[in-house]
Amino acid sequence: MLYNEFVKVYDALAGTTRKLEKADILAGFLKKLKESKWIYLLRGRVTADYDERVFGISNQLVIKAISRSSGESEKYVTGRFRKIGDLGEVAEELMGKKRQSTLFSGKLQTTKVFSNLQKLMIIEGKGSVDKKLALIAELLSNASGKEAKYIIRTLLNDLRVGVADAILRDGIVGAFFKKDDWKEMKEIVEEAYDKINDFAEIYDIASKGKKALTKLEVKPGRPIKVMLPVKVNELEEAFRICGKPMAVEHKYDGFRVIISNDGKKITLFTRRLDNVTKQFPDVVETVKKYVKGKNYVLDSEVVGYDFKTGKARPFEAISQRIKRKYEVDRLIKELPVEINVFDIIYYNGKSVLLDSFRKRRKLLERIVKPTKNKIRLSKQFVSDNKKKIEKFYKDALKQGEEGIMLKNLNAVYRPGRRVGYIVKMKPVVNDLDLVITGAEYGTGKRAGGLTSYYVACKKNGEFVEIGRVSSGLKEKEGMGTTYKEMDKLLRPLIVKTDGRKVRVKPKIVVSVTYQNIQKSPGYSSGYAMRFPRITHYRPDRNTEDIADLKDIKMVSRDK
Ligand code: ATP
Repeated sequence: MLYNEFVKVYDALAGTTRKLEKADILAGFLKKLKESKWIYLLRGRVTADYDERVFGISNQLVIKAISRSSGESEKYVTGRFRKIGDLGEVAEELMGKKRQSTLFSGKLQTTKVFSNLQKLMIIEGKGSVDKKLALIAELLSNASGKEAKYIIRTLLNDLRVGVADAILRDGIVGAFFKKDDWKEMKEIVEEAYDKINDFAEIYDIASKGKKALTKLEVKPGRPIKVMLPVKVNELEEAFRICGKPMAVEHKYDGFRVIISNDGKKITLFTRRLDNVTKQFPDVVETVKKYVKGKNYVLDSEVVGYDFKTGKARPFEAISQRIKRKYEVDRLIKELPVEINVFDIIYYNGKSVLLDSFRKRRKLLERIVKPTKNKIRLSKQFVSDNKKKIEKFYKDALKQGEEGIMLKNLNAVYRPGRRVGYIVKMKPVVNDLDLVITGAEYGTGKRAGGLTSYYVACKKNGEFVEIGRVSSGLKEKEGMGTTYKEMDKLLRPLIVKTDGRKVRVKPKIVVSVTYQNIQKSPGYSSGYAMRFPRITHYRPDRNTEDIADLKDIKMVSRDK
């Protein structure tokens, strides 16, 4: 299959923002896809979503590669980049020019592109920069202008053709199933995807039909999309959703960890599917010691605690442990954690997803050995008594917990969904998770760093800005996320610079508090936060988890 086929699809996808149209384009294309793993290319990748390896290609290396394969000087390529602001387009212009003069015939094969991209991801060590350069230049030298553009954008993680999970899912459904069955099949494909998080495998299985999809099982060792709660403000609402009696648990203020033992090793994943095993060898040890079973997948909340007071510490205190991959031993001592196991998904070779929560909890009680300050089952009691539950709620808040979780005892575990099998109840706070889409360099004592941030919520799948926030982060290290750290996180994400302002790829999620929200023409959402302040950097969240404009309108004074 020629890489040019992909280029045509990329162009078509980039040419529309309509989801239905995108899914149609994908469905047509996926029918003729020769290798299932090539499906990753549609999202600018060569691996499944959960695979954390990256191309690790800098703008500078791309400039060198374009220079080498176009014959133009690096200075000239850099000049064009400054002018155009997009290295993909620079490659298109320069490689396109060259092509016309060398009677290029357009024969770049997808296999070649895929294999060079894969190699780029695994090359390490001495001489790796030269090897990477050679691999990129080889592709560019055989590429048309358009092909060069998309190769470069892929390398820089900036494909910009808009293929979200749901659109790819619909594309697969459109490719393999009859229109009458689409609605049902979308659910089934999504459910299957949430279990294994790999579109190439889903593509293969979907090609075999509905039965194969429904039979698909969770795989230990892989991340899984966790089940999420819906929010209630009153107990009556919780009873309506979860039935009577319910399981009532503390809502711990830590971060979600899926603990996956495939029989050989234990791997830890966050809710965002990031592998955090390296950061938490203490958790791995604890699990090895105190959980019985050949293999299993557990769902838990890992919480920091203060060994002096014996109390839990807020999320921000341990968030450093997720971010840091070095000095782990020191951090384990300074910021110890305790595992609160609250669910189980897989046990001894079998998925237990379809067992009732009551049964899953019983299983947990059999296999987890609660051990002080190391591991325990989430505190739970089963009740249909409003008064008793209210007391439990108040006590939880008194003990510094965030609130309570109420769970339907008869429900299955449904990965990836905010379904009504669990509900959460906590006091109302003015706190929104938002994504940073732009930033500004500071002045005065903050000069030189990106210290003020444009934040956005979502609206129909797009990001719309809702304010600029420049307070809340720390000046000094050791107290939480600093401006310096945020600057470091944002720099590699810069896609455009305009004076002191930069635009960044929407990746970094922060929790922001504010005094109130008002209508405002100044931001693309049409609303603005007054006195916003960052309370947390959320490395455990991705853009799917951010606030929706619909909810923001509800809390705004101006409806
Ligand atoms: P919000 O977005 O309102 O701030 P949140 O950030 O805590 O809430 P939610 O998805 O609303 O996120 O709440 C669910 C999270 O609560 C889970 O992902 C999990 O990390 C955490 N949690 C704490 N205790 C429990 C528990 N006992 N059972 C299930 N989840 C729990």
